[in-house]
Amino acid sequence: MPLEVVVVPCRTDNYAYLLRDTASGRVGLVDAPEAGPIAAALAARGWGLHTILLTHRHDDHIAGVAELVAGFGAEVTGPAGEKGMPPLDRAVAEGDTVALGESRATVLDVPGHTLGHIAYHFADAEALFSADSLMVMGCGRVFEGTLPQMWQSLAKMAALPDTTMVYSGHEYAEGNLRFALSVDAANPALQARAAEIAALRKNGAPTVPALLGLERQTNPFLRVVDPGFKAGLGLSGSSDAQVFAEVRRRKDSF
Ligand code: ZN
Ligand code: FE
Repeated sequence: MPLEVVVVPCRTDNYAYLLRDTASGRVGLVDAPEAGPIAAALAARGWGLHTILLTHRHDDHIAGVAELVAGFGAEVTGPAGEKGMPPLDRAVAEGDTVALGESRATVLDVPGHTLGHIAYHFADAEALFSADSLMVMGCGRVFEGTLPQMWQSLAKMAALPDTTMVYSGHEYAEGNLRFALSVDAANPALQARAAEIAALRKNGAPTVPALLGLERQTNPFLRVVDPGFKAGLGLSGSSDAQVFAEVRRRKDSF
């Protein structure tokens, strides 16, 4: 694999990701929930830190930035359209390319959770870093954007190849799964996935990364395009965006 990814659990349920471009040895980090576990993961491997890639402004994604920049001299890239970010060396938006050695990511604007939220798609490595937009079996709460805007963001990511691995910002799979079963109990793929997630969590293993193709089959927020799913909710004839909005509202009060 030309891009090595290390999952770093942080805080209560956050994930940060160390990325190492194996050709050049350059190391990047997606989101900085806190410095301690990230610095420890770097030290354990004898790695430096060259680049920090930020997804959005929430404290649980940026709180460790200042300490990591001071300690490692890393450069910081983040969303151009987001207010309240720490100082950025480079601000990026939809379609921009971010390089890590020989690895390349394309930036996707995925507003909804916050207005400026972005995702990083490493097409060659088939890796999508989606933080609090598309999540394993779920999606982030729509705090700042509109429901149609969040749906557009999710649909954009769902259009990537099925073989894409999705790295999201939190370990929320068990709660998300309980909700998914409440709206999609008849889905056999969901039943199978429930057993897989339970087995992972029983051992304390992360549920990230998740295969996008499996998310399309089991994530209730991506299932909204399926006529059978719509019918199950009594929403036949509603648009995908309308069904998404209804499912998101139900999740908010689940
Ligand atoms: Zn967030
Ligand atoms: Fe978060």
